[in-house]
Amino acid sequence: MASTSKITIKSDAIKQNVNFVKSLIGTSTILSAVIKGNAYGHGIPVMVKTFESAGINHFSVYSSPEAKDAFKAKSSNSTIMIMGIICVNDYQWVVENNIEFYVSTLDVLEKAIHYSKKAGVKSHIHIDVETGMNRTGIVFENLKKVVSVINSNIDCLEIIGITSHFAGAESIANHIRIKKQFSVFKKRVKYFEKNNIIPRILHIASSAATINYPDSRLDLVRVGILLYGYWPTKETFIHYIHRRKDKSDPIKRAMTWCSNVILIKVIPESEFIGYGLSFQAQHQMKIMIVPVGYSNGYSRSLSNLGHVIVKGRKAPIVGSVNMNMIICDITNIENVQIGDEVVLIGKQGDQEISFSSFAEMNNSLNYEILARLPENIQRCLDDK
Ligand SMILES: *Cc1c(COP(=O)(O)O)cnc(C)c1O
Repeated sequence: MASTSKITIKSDAIKQNVNFVKSLIGTSTILSAVIKGNAYGHGIPVMVKTFESAGINHFSVYSSPEAKDAFKAKSSNSTIMIMGIICVNDYQWVVENNIEFYVSTLDVLEKAIHYSKKAGVKSHIHIDVETGMNRTGIVFENLKKVVSVINSNIDCLEIIGITSHFAGAESIANHIRIKKQFSVFKKRVKYFEKNNIIPRILHIASSAATINYPDSRLDLVRVGILLYGYWPTKETFIHYIHRRKDKSDPIKRAMTWCSNVILIKVIPESEFIGYGLSFQAQHQMKIMIVPVGYSNGYSRSLSNLGHVIVKGRKAPIVGSVNMNMIICDITNIENVQIGDEVVLIGKQGDQEISFSSFAEMNNSLNYEILARLPENIQRCLDDK
């Protein structure tokens, strides 16, 4: 797809991150790569292939449209699990293609049974139980009913897993809540087992829980952010590194987002640059224009704040981030030419702009910045 910027994924970084998580969890726990939110902005098609070549064959998505994107890219021995919503028109496709999915309500359970009968194949389900996050999941009051519906339709159902999700395992502030959730989860599992509903696997841990609560790894971990090379929070990194001799970061950011210089200009002293009065040249300046703005996922809150890298040097953004452009100060950077590569996120020479620093400046999360990178930016693989 033609676009004014480009996202490149380093496959060696992904391999390193996958190997790091595998070294934590060992061989008896399955590693499911979470690829919701267009694979955290990295692109589902590119990432499914990259994760597969790094040895992953289990993928977690949020919705059935994401499952379809992943299905097109995956090899025949990879499994897809939908953790969230199935669009009504997609149930048949999901059931027929053995796509696994969460059953979080009685309504979804009934649909699973209905479409299984219709297609003549079993629905592959994970029973999602409410344990204290108070988001999705089967609530206590409905457990008995769910057990009876499952047991009287067991011919239609393959009980793959029982699952839940922690409400913030990345912060010690939530410690008591997380512990309580885990004990509720174990109780719910016992209840199903006592009623002859025996799942093949149990899973509850995301990246943060995989690091902070090793007991919660169980049979499968659903890891997103770590595999792309980011810590869920700085606190999680500190928790991990705390007791280690080697203090270097074991994971590596896989994404580079870059564009090009399209225009260079000299601005006389005391002129305002860009919209309004937010930036005034205090001396004669040289600026460059880069064709990326907030419509391309470059946050407007980085106006007069962010940096890009050109010729291996950091160039500050001057004035506001426009819909399709930013203006950067290159007064002290020599030899910048039209067409030169400009790094928005990632490394060039000795300089790096990380999403984390970006996120701090921007007072938002890695997760948010990554996930809102528009789908129409070209993604490609760097597998040298
Ligand atoms: C997003 C998500 C994950 C992965 O979270 P990370 O912090 O990126 O590892 C796991 N489980 C569920 C249910 C999710 O929604």
